[in-house]
Amino acid sequence: MTKRPYIVGNWKMNGNRAMLAEARAIDRAAQRYPDVEIALAPPAPLIGTVREAVTGIGVGGQDCHTAAKGAHTGDVSAAMLADIGADFVILGHSERRRDHGENDVLVRAKAEAALAAGLSVIICVGETLDERDSGKAEAVVSAQIDGSVPLGEGAAVAAGRVAVAYEPVWAIGTGRVAAVEDVVAMHAAAGARLVAAFGEDAVRVRILYGGSVNGENAIGLLGAPGVGGALVGGASLTADAFLPIVAAASQVSA
Ligand code: PEP
Repeated sequence: MTKRPYIVGNWKMNGNRAMLAEARAIDRAAQRYPDVEIALAPPAPLIGTVREAVTGIGVGGQDCHTAAKGAHTGDVSAAMLADIGADFVILGHSERRRDHGENDVLVRAKAEAALAAGLSVIICVGETLDERDSGKAEAVVSAQIDGSVPLGEGAAVAAGRVAVAYEPVWAIGTGRVAAVEDVVAMHAAAGARLVAAFGEDAVRVRILYGGSVNGENAIGLLGAPGVGGALVGGASLTADAFLPIVAAASQVSA
């Protein structure tokens, strides 16, 4: 099993072909960090182009449909992502839960479709500020894990194809990063739900932290117990911002 930290850049709805230069720079630098697993999730129109431009990093999508094909205008299937060379897909990001009304049942169905298509998955969970302030953060995240991680996919879990990203909604894109002790507590709670579902194979599910990770705070977050990597939004858009996070991951894994 790989215990390499997993650093994933989520470009969200940002980027154009000119940003291939950033992907190439990140890819070139990846050779210096063999102890870190690095990946980028560009917007759908760029996935194939980024795939062709890089060799040493993973490339993935930011969403997929539950069906392999059909009358679903505007959607992209997991099989299509796999066909253009994607390795993984991010599912259940809070922006999809917010913008598209995605719930745990749908996220789980998407995860099952993605795994069936041969992709790995990163399933996102996280509480809102109201939920944290009212003391419900652990309960909310535990319920999201119970509801959106596919329980029947023990083989994929054992193969290390399932990751979870703990992303407090209030920390995403806000510059407000969660306190390390809260991250540790939330990752422990998430890990406990995964053990309940998958037993000892749960250790193969990397739990990433996401929410305003940058080159300054990465060491503290990535060095915390139970943190298996980071899902990075804003700071993944340039190599200059992203690579210090990768370097921090390398440092904590040494
Ligand atoms: C994200 O997109 O998942 C994310 C964590 O964004 P940011 O790093 O910008 O907060």
